[in-house]
Amino acid sequence: MEIVCGGNKGDRRYAIVHYISVMPISTDNSVFDKNGRLLFCSVERFVRDICEGEHCFICGRSEQETPFNREHILPNWLLRQFTLHAKTMTLPNRERHGYGTYTIPCCVDCNSRLSSTFETPVSEAFASGFAGVEALIDLEGTHRLFQWLALIFLKLHLKDRRLKKHLDRRLGDAPISETYEWETFHHVHCLARAHYTEALLGDFVFGSFMLVQLVPDSEDEPFDVVSVTDASSLFLRAGDVALYAVLNDGQACVRAIEPTLGRITGPLHPMQARELAAELAAAKLHLKNPPRFSTLMSDEDGADLQMIADLDPAGPLFLEKDAPTVGFVKHFAFRHVLDRIEGHTREEAVALLKQNRLSFLFDDNGNFITGRRGPESEVTSIS
Ligand SMILES: [Zn+2]
Repeated sequence: MEIVCGGNKGDRRYAIVHYISVMPISTDNSVFDKNGRLLFCSVERFVRDICEGEHCFICGRSEQETPFNREHILPNWLLRQFTLHAKTMTLPNRERHGYGTYTIPCCVDCNSRLSSTFETPVSEAFASGFAGVEALIDLEGTHRLFQWLALIFLKLHLKDRRLKKHLDRRLGDAPISETYEWETFHHVHCLARAHYTEALLGDFVFGSFMLVQLVPDSEDEPFDVVSVTDASSLFLRAGDVALYAVLNDGQACVRAIEPTLGRITGPLHPMQARELAAELAAAKLHLKNPPRFSTLMSDEDGADLQMIADLDPAGPLFLEKDAPTVGFVKHFAFRHVLDRIEGHTREEAVALLKQNRLSFLFDDNGNFITGRRGPESEVTSIS
């Protein structure tokens, strides 16, 4: 089993970054450069134009200003590589949605830039499975992959505004995103468009990241995604590769689950990989003092743009591990397989998961479970 952790390779220090600060200038505090490029998208503009509007989620321009097309939420190459075009995923409203038509609007320029910045290098890495992704990290670190996960997390949630919460019209036509506090996605938005703004990204702007090798298992679905909205976490499994991120924790959560990681003594099966995603997300729900993020610049045109993380000098502080909180996440992570958990009725499985007393990773003695396949997996968005 191999696990690669961290945002900055080998850097485990906590640091507070001090930097020059100049107030951005525009009616909504957004900052444009001399060529009209939106360098800093204020929270107000982000919510108004992108979360609740129809503007491009990268450059912020409207369809009246620039040609638009559709951006796949899960990239086209991934759908091709794992023959997902004809398959469906389960949305938070339990509706089945075709992967191939799971898209959001994006301008043509930004769509092309996303391809060259992320999809081309990431797809080339994934073509060689775990070894390819590991080689990419060896070559350049984890930042590109981390930002790619931030991008997918953002797209998943922006799409939720366009999908109905209830399939039954009698229950109203509110969107899935009805309960989202869009302001809380602002940091993820800044991360996902940093390739466009060319902002310098300070230490711990990147959150927890893990690459984990899985047992190759052709009998199971080759692809799996779990996002936990309140934890700002994303898990993506494709073939023998599992990627994990917590997007706004200053790398605290991957260290919080080190005791769990230390007990894993072999490659993971798909359901074990999903359970690890739930553990990582649950850690974020226990984090008492997440970093505060800000964007700084040295003049009113956004020169020397920099994103920084302000961390508590005391280090990350966690609430005492709460079984119902962990169980809440695990129950949702496995709710699609409750009828197929070996040795338990559906009711038993629900009760045990909610109390965090059912594990695919470890037996009753806390030893890592090897050689067991779990039920099939599928895309899950927990919000
Ligand atoms: Zn754009």
